[in-house]
Amino acid sequence: MPLLLVDLDNTLVDRDAAFRAASVEFLTTHGLPTVDVDWIMRVDASGYRPRAVVAQALRERYASLDAGSVQAFIDRGAADFVTLPEATRFALRHAVTAGWTPVVVTNGSVTQQEAKLRISGLASEVAGWVISEGVGVKKPSRAIFDAAAASVGARLEDGGWVIGDAPQADIAGAVGVGLPSVWLHLGRTWPSELPFQPTHVADHLPAALDHILTVTRS
Ligand SMILES: [Mg+2]
Repeated sequence: MPLLLVDLDNTLVDRDAAFRAASVEFLTTHGLPTVDVDWIMRVDASGYRPRAVVAQALRERYASLDAGSVQAFIDRGAADFVTLPEATRFALRHAVTAGWTPVVVTNGSVTQQEAKLRISGLASEVAGWVISEGVGVKKPSRAIFDAAAASVGARLEDGGWVIGDAPQADIAGAVGVGLPSVWLHLGRTWPSELPFQPTHVADHLPAALDHILTVTRS
């Protein structure tokens, strides 16, 4: 059963849209100006800025707010607002029917990422998942991809594809383990300074799966 090693944030779910919704709720709940949502999104940098740095920026901007409220928002992140697009659910089921084994490979905290998997309904659509905090190693390290394969009783040598939106985590990881990859461009151009490239570039997850199923059909 070939593996589909799939990133979670901004690949399977629109994490940035969910974080924006969570930010609006945070601002509204605490009587803060909702126009600040754009400032929060910039500080957050699609989740790539360390959470402690984001928390510090929020505490400084909203000095009158208690630290617990800021931390609760940071800890929960986008989790309560993630949804699984129907087209993505359909594409995953189609891939499973065609004999593929989807496993989520994500960098992040166990509490937050498992909440996303559960709340979006992804937990019952994939064969398994590995979260960097849980296995003590992050993408692009080979070890997290090995752990993903092992979580479903497979080995990377048995073949598979990697899908993700992050050049340095997902695509570098694929290159490191010798698997082909699909990069979701999300409106960006591939960073030409990188010494590696994805096998294929796609608009969104269903298009990525469609490509993989087409080129591997024998
Ligand atoms: Mg991602």
